[in-house]
Amino acid sequence: MTNELRPVAPTYIGSLKPYQAGKPIEETAREYGLPEASIIKLASNENPLGMPPKARAAIDAIVNSGARYPDPNGHALKVALGQKYNVERNWITLGNGSSDILELVARAFLQAAQLDSDCNAVSSQYAFMAWQNAVKATGARMVAVPAKNYGHDLDAMALAVNAATRVVYLANPNNPTGTFFTVDELTSFLDRIPANVVVLLDEAYNEYLEPHHRYDSTELVRRYPNLVVSRTFSKAFGLAGLRVGFAIATPYVTDLLNRVRQTFNVNSLAQAAAIAALNDDDYLNESYRLNREGIERFYEVCDALRLPYVKSQGNFVVIKVGNSAELFDALLRRGIIVRKVVDYGLGEWLRVTVGLPQENERFFTALRELVVVNA
Ligand SMILES: *Cc1c(COP(=O)(O)O)cnc(C)c1O
Repeated sequence: MTNELRPVAPTYIGSLKPYQAGKPIEETAREYGLPEASIIKLASNENPLGMPPKARAAIDAIVNSGARYPDPNGHALKVALGQKYNVERNWITLGNGSSDILELVARAFLQAAQLDSDCNAVSSQYAFMAWQNAVKATGARMVAVPAKNYGHDLDAMALAVNAATRVVYLANPNNPTGTFFTVDELTSFLDRIPANVVVLLDEAYNEYLEPHHRYDSTELVRRYPNLVVSRTFSKAFGLAGLRVGFAIATPYVTDLLNRVRQTFNVNSLAQAAAIAALNDDDYLNESYRLNREGIERFYEVCDALRLPYVKSQGNFVVIKVGNSAELFDALLRRGIIVRKVVDYGLGEWLRVTVGLPQENERFFTALRELVVVNA
């Protein structure tokens, strides 16, 4: 039945499911009658160290500039990024978080599938939900290629690319599973992808990669002009609340992204904080060290409880717990927020962010109490 009093939207908009973010601390406090200070959030892969001290100082210094619009071109931040990643400013696009970058790519390269012109985006099963939503909001078709060992099956993905494919999305490391692929696997994949198909490589967790797995993304973009690399300040750089991300792509692609970008998409405090965070090496090194140490503890505890998990190159671990909804609620009652991943088709799993050592231990203690050890 049609209702003529209702505004008309495309059916693909009505069938979108809003992104389920990690449960906020304030909401958990309200709902469970817990003091905010007693709650730990291990749900959104934020940096448990809090903001980098240099970023906080940078914000303090310019907090009075709020009456003015930010620099729409983010000149100073692009200069800083250019120095750090060895890339010219016209290869850089700034985003309101890297979710913004994902949306800009979708908007620039995808279109609603028409009767006479199909259009699809290829990604792996367990691909970041924000990307899936960005694709669906354009009306293009989403092609999800079954995962291999919870990670990307790059061979199958290359075979899935067809004449209607405009974008292939890869995440390295992947969220929510923490898997990664090597630069050799990546380049042999890129060698097989037609030059007119964009490969969007989401490197939100790049800084958590172990050193022997790292590679020069800028150099790859120079070699493969259809490659778009996406990075964020939300994870290892500790600025999730400020919303800054960026893309590295050829000037041709960068120009297209700039056409669909909101003029003032990155606010002035965020720009200043990002510049400071980029150069806070002590903070970044400590974030990496703390995370690697925490990940090893997660493996130990899961092994002892005989809980399956996926080895992670991110700052989180997915753990197969069985009845995830029940455990999720029991943890919440104890003031521990983790993340359900049932919307990724991982109904028996929970994703847990690596926190500070004392936060991790609190989670482990609760886990030991709540999980029946498999004999
Ligand atoms: C967290 C995350 C991002 C970053 O999102 P922002 O919008 O930059 O906060 C991007 N991609 C993946 C896969 C993520 O997990």
